[in-house]
Amino acid sequence: MLKYVNYKERLLMKFELHSVDGVSVKSDFSGFHKLKLNERLAIIKKLKKLSSKEVAELINSGSLDMDIADIMIENVIGVTHIPLGVAMNFRINGKDYVIPMAIEEPSVVAAASHSAKLARANGGFTADADEPIMIGQIQLVGVKDYEKVKGIIMSKRDNIIKTANGKDSVMFNLGGGVKDIEVRKVETERGTMTIVHLLVDVRDAMGANSVNTMCETVSPYLEELTGTKARLRILSNLAIYRKARATATWRKEDIDEDVIEGILDAYHLALNDPFRCATNNKGIMNGIDAVLIATGNDFRAAEAGAHSYASLGGYKPLAEYKKDKKGNLIGSIEVPLPVGLVGGATKTNPIARIALKILDIKSAKELACIAACVGLANNFAALRAMIKEGIQKGHMKLHAKNIAIMAGAQGNDIYEIAARMIQEGNISVSRAIELVKLYRKATRKRH
Ligand code: NAD
Repeated sequence: MLKYVNYKERLLMKFELHSVDGVSVKSDFSGFHKLKLNERLAIIKKLKKLSSKEVAELINSGSLDMDIADIMIENVIGVTHIPLGVAMNFRINGKDYVIPMAIEEPSVVAAASHSAKLARANGGFTADADEPIMIGQIQLVGVKDYEKVKGIIMSKRDNIIKTANGKDSVMFNLGGGVKDIEVRKVETERGTMTIVHLLVDVRDAMGANSVNTMCETVSPYLEELTGTKARLRILSNLAIYRKARATATWRKEDIDEDVIEGILDAYHLALNDPFRCATNNKGIMNGIDAVLIATGNDFRAAEAGAHSYASLGGYKPLAEYKKDKKGNLIGSIEVPLPVGLVGGATKTNPIARIALKILDIKSAKELACIAACVGLANNFAALRAMIKEGIQKGHMKLHAKNIAIMAGAQGNDIYEIAARMIQEGNISVSRAIELVKLYRKATRKRH
């Protein structure tokens, strides 16, 4: 196979030579997926008038070889990059961790590290996670007598489990596989539906593919047993049996009593107001998603699980706060965390492999504990910053370099303009544009 990154020059020449004349270059271009990567790129280049420099940037894939990227998803034309940072100071269950976080938003890594430092003064975080049980759903329609159907299914429970487990011997031999089944009735506008849940221990995988396969495997058997029709056969992202929990205590002498009162006020607003709660939980997912992206995990699955879990019984914050007898602040979080050390992109993406090595963990449960701690740390940091000085001060300081780039600054000017905006207390695109002009003029004079 072509090593596109290594043969960039050769490829670029090919792009120039490649002709798309006579080919329809609308977005409904048929057969696009059948083309080779360089052919796809040539078409997009021509269609969207990309320069050769822009094409070179698309295929500058870093450590993810273009050949691998081309296998991972469809219609690949490049690789996008987001920074990978490491959160420091985390002590979880008495063990120290350096935690890789992949995120494009400034201040998230700094916030997590700072919260962890403050928590460390009191021993750090304690965390635990459930066994890795995921739920697979099989939707049976055309059910005339729910209780009868449920009875038949439960009487064949062992056979159903055996059939499903026959499909993934690797997982089964590792001690995983279907452990139990549940049957539920859901009343809908289209009649009563019987929903069968396979409760699958997915060991160190996130488990979606494995569970989906098991659901598809047992569906014909369920249809045959019950005389119903199986429609959907797929994982539920509401992973209520696979939650992680974390707790930390921030001492009042380390964070100030009024800050504690402010955090409690903020928490109670989130508890009672979905408008605030959405932003509160977004701040938690800032940390969790960053750990998941760094390790090649499916952050959309975690997002879906977290928000749907938060919505059970009305949308609520994923983390809660209270004071202990001494007036210290106790923060705790509980969130479904379907994460894996195998499967998905955990092994295909070389950076994910390195991130997992940096974490130095033994199980998916340990990764879930870490992600929960980071989510709590980010929530605490955001609340504390808002109470103390407003979120923007610290955030904008860290964002100043991005703003300088947005205004057109290059090279060393980025740092100088950012520093000057921070010093002036005016971190804005309009000021950055003025400074870019000023610095360019000064450079021209010097030459
Ligand atoms: P997978 O199928 O790639 O890998 C899991 C397999 O690895 C297992 O079935 C098992 O055979 C094997 N394995 C080897 N060592 C193992 C160990 N120690 N523990 C457990 N299994 C081990 O991946 P997956 O985890 O089943 O699925 C994850 C992928 O599914 C993600 O990429 C996700 O994006 C995608 N996905 C998600 C959804 C959803 O969230 N709704 C739906 C479909 C697909």
